[in-house]
Amino acid sequence: MKHQIKKLTERITLLYGIHAECCIYLVEGDKRALLIDTGLGAVDMQSEIAELTSLPYDVVNTHGHGDHTGGNIYYPAVYMHEGAREDARGFLALNKTVLSEEEVAIIEAQLAKGSYEIHCVSDGFTFDLGDRHLEVLSIPGHSPGCIALLDHEDRVLFSGDCFVKSMPIQMVVPGALTIREYLDSLHKLQSREDEFDWLCTGHDEQLEPKTFLDEVTAACEKLVTGELSGEDIELPPVYGDTRAKLIKEKDFTIAYRPWRVC
Ligand SMILES: [Zn+2]
Repeated sequence: MKHQIKKLTERITLLYGIHAECCIYLVEGDKRALLIDTGLGAVDMQSEIAELTSLPYDVVNTHGHGDHTGGNIYYPAVYMHEGAREDARGFLALNKTVLSEEEVAIIEAQLAKGSYEIHCVSDGFTFDLGDRHLEVLSIPGHSPGCIALLDHEDRVLFSGDCFVKSMPIQMVVPGALTIREYLDSLHKLQSREDEFDWLCTGHDEQLEPKTFLDEVTAACEKLVTGELSGEDIELPPVYGDTRAKLIKEKDFTIAYRPWRVC
């Protein structure tokens, strides 16, 4: 099995398409490259990336969930926020729910070779790719260890699961913070909005216009003030507590716990 490959821009390549895996982005500068997220781990990322670039590269996770960190096992070291460590360590429990026995066996064989080193990053850390620079912005919300990467030269914000359109924005996963805390992160991104034009999200297979950020922020502001309230939904048992609500806006939905708004 291999990922599907799509060039989003001349220097951003998307790898996607294995089960419900996240979007994996290969971002190239003139000196180095950066791999943003590593998917479920069912495929040896190193050999796939070797076919796409000859540049040396680092690997970074937007947060710790297993569908974004599974492929870390193919590397000696990975960058992530301190708050992502615990989720990344427990990646296999989540991934086993979607992978085949054969795929789990591939992961277990790789894990038996030893684990990778974690380099912690937070606000202000910058990945220097030569002629482009990606700045880390800490944006806790969907999980405590979420970061975005702001590409100064190509004016793209890699936002992980902070925004998604093709599935609900997940504020119901174990460890998710309150909507108010998530909103603080959205306001922080809005304060930098004149520095980017496009979003590369955690699960949408194309560039999204940055207006998406303003739409999600407006909905969360109304949620916090009580002007907006979702309809009741029942989550699958894998979420633990199955009670939640869903906000339905024109282009996106937000799943949240009504007792975790403020
Ligand atoms: Zn996630």
